[in-house]
Amino acid sequence: MTTTMTSSFPAEILHRAAALLEQRRRPLLISHPRPDGDTIGCALALRLALLQIGSQPLLACVHPIPENVAYLPGAETYVSDVPEDVDIDLVIAVDMSDLSRTGGIYKDAWCGKFPLLVIDHHATNDAFGDVNLVDPDAAATALPLAALIDALGIPLTGDMATCLLAAVLTDTRGLRTSNTSPEVLRFVGQLIEAGGDYAGVMEKTLDSIPYRQMRGWAVALDRLQLDGQLAWATFPLAEKIALGIEDHDDLDLGNLLSRVAEAKVMVTFLEMRDGTVKVSLRSRPGYNVAWIAKVLEGGGHHQAAGCSVTGDLDAAQARVLPLARQELAQHPGEGLGAADSATFARVSARR
Ligand code: 5GP
Ligand code: MN
Repeated sequence: MTTTMTSSFPAEILHRAAALLEQRRRPLLISHPRPDGDTIGCALALRLALLQIGSQPLLACVHPIPENVAYLPGAETYVSDVPEDVDIDLVIAVDMSDLSRTGGIYKDAWCGKFPLLVIDHHATNDAFGDVNLVDPDAAATALPLAALIDALGIPLTGDMATCLLAAVLTDTRGLRTSNTSPEVLRFVGQLIEAGGDYAGVMEKTLDSIPYRQMRGWAVALDRLQLDGQLAWATFPLAEKIALGIEDHDDLDLGNLLSRVAEAKVMVTFLEMRDGTVKVSLRSRPGYNVAWIAKVLEGGGHHQAAGCSVTGDLDAAQARVLPLARQELAQHPGEGLGAADSATFARVSARR
């Protein structure tokens, strides 16, 4: 079974990407740090596709594979470090907007010798590859990737479809985001028809939260604040240490806070061991947080973006919250009335 994906990039780019994959036999596939279902599911689906045409892909991610996608076929083949003498002939960056998102796995002096193929969907993608299969309108990297697999004439297996389901269901938060178009729903239908395990992905990837992470949500929710249409929460390092949470653990706080009804922009601040703060930004449709992340040298999508800033939690809030308020100020008069939001702010301002 093949998919019938259409995408907004020119057919010529699809053909160049397919030609690269046909010519090269030992590609290095890189997933981004603090990996999510899209970067892992896509790399695993592409690995299975490439195995079918006789390639020997190597998968790398600087951080461990999270429990909620570790069951996907091939997840156990990931390595966290790639020695420079490993025999590769192509580098593929999966679901990332710029070279820094390889987390240091891409080393210029070595990887720079090989062509770089970028498969992505971030609005902030800076076209850092030799071939950039980037569709900023796609709800997940899984969509341009499926178009590529189709262009290669490789039929989708059930395992490939399950990996692609993990990708698209993660990035659309279970088909909730505003970019969940009829095309996305048709794509999901095709993946199920191909034998993809929809219910299994929903249960294991979206609805299985490790206890440690859920305790983390309790910490974040206890520290939740609301000021007008801006909701935010801080997460001190001491609390992470108390719960045994590592810096690379993705607590998915951004998506947790994205559901605060009164808010249009939501921000989480996670204090790291290296003196930085990981910032996750979310917004309601019509509000854009990608530019905020970009200004702070991060990136992402209009409604989900992130960055890291140097300093403690107070410094990070002082840098990011004014920018978030600036975005809100672009939309005066929308949402709650001023009196209502002042009430909410008083009720919520416990910290
Ligand atoms: P999250 O807030 O869940 O970590 O990330 C939301 C979105 O922003 C994801 O698409 C992710 O790839 C992107 N993102 C998060 N942090 C960074 C960052 O530090 N740099 C860049 N370029 N993108 C990021
Ligand atoms: Mn993605």
